[in-house]
Amino acid sequence: MAEATVDRRRLVPRTDAVLADPRLVDAAARLGRAPVKAAVVAAQQRARTGELDPADVAAAALAALPETAGGLRTVLNATGVVLHTNLGRAALSPAALAAVAAAGAHTDVELDLATGVRARRGRTALAALAAAVPAAGDVHVVNNGAAALVLTATALAAGQEIVVSRGELVEIGDGFRLPDLLESTGARLREVGTTNRTALADYAAAIGPQTGFILKVHPSNFVVRGFTKAVDVSELTGLGVPVVADIGSGLLAPDPLLPDEPDAATTLRAGADLVIASGDKLLGGPQAGLLLGAAALIEQLRRHPLARALRVDKLTLAALQATLTGPTTPTWQALRYDLGSLRARTERVRDQLAGVELVESVAVVGGGGAPELELPSWALSLPDRYAAALRLGATPVVGRVERGRLLLDLRCVPEERDPDLILAIRTALGAGGR
Ligand SMILES: *Cc1c(COP(=O)(O)O)cnc(C)c1O
Repeated sequence: MAEATVDRRRLVPRTDAVLADPRLVDAAARLGRAPVKAAVVAAQQRARTGELDPADVAAAALAALPETAGGLRTVLNATGVVLHTNLGRAALSPAALAAVAAAGAHTDVELDLATGVRARRGRTALAALAAAVPAAGDVHVVNNGAAALVLTATALAAGQEIVVSRGELVEIGDGFRLPDLLESTGARLREVGTTNRTALADYAAAIGPQTGFILKVHPSNFVVRGFTKAVDVSELTGLGVPVVADIGSGLLAPDPLLPDEPDAATTLRAGADLVIASGDKLLGGPQAGLLLGAAALIEQLRRHPLARALRVDKLTLAALQATLTGPTTPTWQALRYDLGSLRARTERVRDQLAGVELVESVAVVGGGGAPELELPSWALSLPDRYAAALRLGATPVVGRVERGRLLLDLRCVPEERDPDLILAIRTALGAGGR
């Protein structure tokens, strides 16, 4: 036994020798030397314990390496949740990804190449956003929806009051509550109405010289039903103070598929002075906070010192513009996936797998949007004990578990990844689950 161990140890190739393997030299050029060396050391260790054939050390190290040095792994989202918060909400379009890659180099983000002088940062992306919503006097973009709220509260209401309905003091997710966020700016919340009912008179009675603005928040992740009353933006515009509407999801114009989701254009036409939305929800773009509204207010926000701390990266600006002007996004496509095509595709995949069934399923928007909308869908169904193996495979696949079954809805999986999906399922089934 001891002798066998010694023999095996002698057969394990030396680190330098493994690192000289051309495939690992390539990997080191792509990923850096440290992670490649760590993978080699881990594979050598497995060879010493007999878990791995010493001849396979280089191959095992290679297989354990990530596709990029970025740390984040591409996941096939088979959850049927189009904007899955834990999977990074919107997947960028190929056009946006190409724009990000180009923007990663030195770019003209703040330089006018024609004159050689400094130009407004991200001017083309801002122009694209303004063009997409002609009802906006001007636009600005910050890091995310929460940053847009913080900038607005700080610039327009620090030391003053934000008048807001009690029914709209929502928790966004992961314990983040809008009221806490707003109060962190030094603004005071003047809560009006009740959880289920707020009237125009409630707002009117709270308005005074201490008012910074009225905030309307779209309760994007829940629905209140029954004995309810809320005041529309159009009714609030006559009260003599700015009306700010946080619409959440980032629809720029009405979408018949999502009749209950507010959109920027309609909200501005209803009289909102400022509209706040996220870039990576229904718009299907990068994480960003969109601010659209009266030119004077936007200018006030842009000039506030805090704006610099919340400004977006050039990668975001590039992805946003490509999202606004480019082809339809994966989010848009997933929401409109033709049911017959989805079924046929899911059947084709199923036919290449043993022990997997086709079932009806229900997909949802997710990301705190359109909480009541159900999208009829189709899914592969397999025993839920394969869930971990699928998550942990070479191509991570995340599905959802329902009543002991793991459902894999292909709606949000790019069709060109079907071969990888099939291989991942076969591998998981072959391993017998865990
Ligand atoms: C999602 C959401 C936010 C937060 O936006 P982030 O981009 O996640 O920071 C704020 N308000 C509403 C109504 C939302 O739906």
